[in-house]
Amino acid sequence: MRTELLIGGEWRQGADDGRIEVTDPATTDTIAEVADGTPADALAACDAAESAQVAWARTAPRERSEILRRSWEVLVEHTDELAELIVREHGKPMADAKGEITYAAEFFRWNAEETVRIRGDIGTAPSGANKIIVHHPPIGVVAMITPWNFPAAMITRKLAPALGAGNAVVIKPPKETPLTALRIAELLGEAGVPDGLVNVVPTSTSGDWFDAVVDHRAVRMLSFTGSTEVGRVLLRRAADRVLKTVMELGGNAPFIVFDDADVDAAVEGAMVAKMRHSAETCTAANRFFVEAGAVDEFAEKFAAAMGDVRVGSGLDEGVTCGPMINAKAVSDIDGLVQGAVGEGASVLLGGSPSDRTGFFYDPTVLRDVAPGSEITRNEIFGPVAPIITFTDHDDMIRQANDTEMGLTGYVYTRDLAKGLRVSEQIQAGMIGLNRGAVSDPAAPFGGMKQSGLGREGSTEGIYEFCETQYIATSW
Ligand code: NAD
Repeated sequence: MRTELLIGGEWRQGADDGRIEVTDPATTDTIAEVADGTPADALAACDAAESAQVAWARTAPRERSEILRRSWEVLVEHTDELAELIVREHGKPMADAKGEITYAAEFFRWNAEETVRIRGDIGTAPSGANKIIVHHPPIGVVAMITPWNFPAAMITRKLAPALGAGNAVVIKPPKETPLTALRIAELLGEAGVPDGLVNVVPTSTSGDWFDAVVDHRAVRMLSFTGSTEVGRVLLRRAADRVLKTVMELGGNAPFIVFDDADVDAAVEGAMVAKMRHSAETCTAANRFFVEAGAVDEFAEKFAAAMGDVRVGSGLDEGVTCGPMINAKAVSDIDGLVQGAVGEGASVLLGGSPSDRTGFFYDPTVLRDVAPGSEITRNEIFGPVAPIITFTDHDDMIRQANDTEMGLTGYVYTRDLAKGLRVSEQIQAGMIGLNRGAVSDPAAPFGGMKQSGLGREGSTEGIYEFCETQYIATSW
């Protein structure tokens, strides 16, 4: 297991020789100590990235594409090992961890294909005086800051297109889950990614790390995934150097079930939208708006399905919900649940932290949640489902959009035209229409409103890591 910093192709300790403890959230045991990067280490990583990027940007797209393709193969070959690392440091069930590696690796295959298709344009100026040639060179050095909920995929979704477009990167993985990031970087070296292009510097002092990196002359872009709260702080600081930014931030997804929905399908979709990856996804269904005619059946069947969830260590066979990331997450979730109950919600299932070692919360279903209550305004990030009954369609849409977040929404109805109409009315970047999962490397991932800026994945994703240059000439 790699526990040092990766800078310029070399594994080294941090300048201060500090350590970050990595905890297994299912047991609360320390499972590893990772080198704690200082601002000086982060700057050394920026220097290394700057030197490596020049030659990389000059390689043929086909050469970069083939290295990305090989990276996909190597990550897939190491699925079991990487999944186990994810389970140990994050806690999610093994099946989810393996699914994450499949998804994470796929960004390399997808972007191997996109790398050779980065397009330009050519035209004639309206005056006829000259030609206009437009092309897309790389940006240079990109700083990447990622969250703990997808220790692999939130890195590769950025890294694969950044490399494909000809950039070098300096990654700050979260202190909670640095092990997966370090191992992925090592495997990319084995797949042929040249030294210095991928630098990984975990740190316990994120603010100082970013303060140093943002002022490095070669850094021209910040690609961040995490909470809106932190994203806002980073945007302000990035403005000092007018960095290009792509921000993948928090969510507060409405999950809407109409009377005419197939309720069994809606329950199945709700389980996916709420519970995968231990209910710690940014796309998680956060507020369940269910029409009055369907609410009894939906609530009963959903509570039964949530009651069948097996909570425990992600390493144990049959477990479908692992621990939360830390004690604070459990107490934040419980605060929202108790607040909702205080405002009159009834508890159909769960309603408290689990009575076991580790950071667990019991799967919880709340009914008759007051519209506008705290739990509907905050990202729960845990296995808690608040149900709100509605009768008036327009008012429900108003409530669904009554949030500063706009990442994901879900709509269940048998009437496709109504489903499309409502999807269009929901202010969110991604909609699952009769589907509980939206993520796909071939689709544009990202949010409206305070859920983010820019998109990852799809054909758009790689252009986020490109400049646009236009050359005026005549012949
Ligand atoms: P977070 O914002 O607390 O942390 C994200 C990253 O930012 C971590 O690496 C953290 O160490 C770092 N960080 C924190 N403060 C910093 C600072 N002052 N300077 C520099 N870096 C700093 O988020 P989290 O708790 O790790 O992740 C959960 C959040 O991420 C949720 O809000 C979730 O919705 C969001 N998320 C969004 C997406 C998306 O694609 N939109 C995907 C996954 C997670």
